[in-house]
Amino acid sequence: MSKTIFQKIIDREIPAKIVYEDEQCLAFHDVAPQAPIHVLVIPKRPIPSLAVSQAGDTSLLGHLLWAVKEIAVRLQLDKGYRVVVNCGPDGGQSVDHLHLHLLGGRQMAWPPG
Ligand code: AMP
Repeated sequence: MSKTIFQKIIDREIPAKIVYEDEQCLAFHDVAPQAPIHVLVIPKRPIPSLAVSQAGDTSLLGHLLWAVKEIAVRLQLDKGYRVVVNCGPDGGQSVDHLHLHLLGGRQMAWPPG
């Protein structure tokens, strides 16, 4: 199976503007930002989608959410932010490597499109 674009970023085969990294995850600026701050947080262990996550992934999933919070603090998103996980075709997922969008720096609308 060919590597996803996010696996290539993890493997440092293509560049990314990395804002956070630890043993479990990597975070970098989205190449097509939808807000003044738009960061993607991905697990280093590839899970294709939230839809196929397993009970054994719960610790990693929790860590990803914690990392989002940590990055939001570091980026001084004091007024709030939005966390989005697109899942599957109807959810608008375009890269088959689980990722959390951290969006901030502007007022978000609801409902989302
Ligand atoms: P999704 O549509 O939820 O699967 O989100 C995929 C996101 O990855 C989109 O917001 C893209 O703009 C972003 N993206 C795609 N390629 C890259 C890249 N090379 N570096 C950073 N972000 C990327």
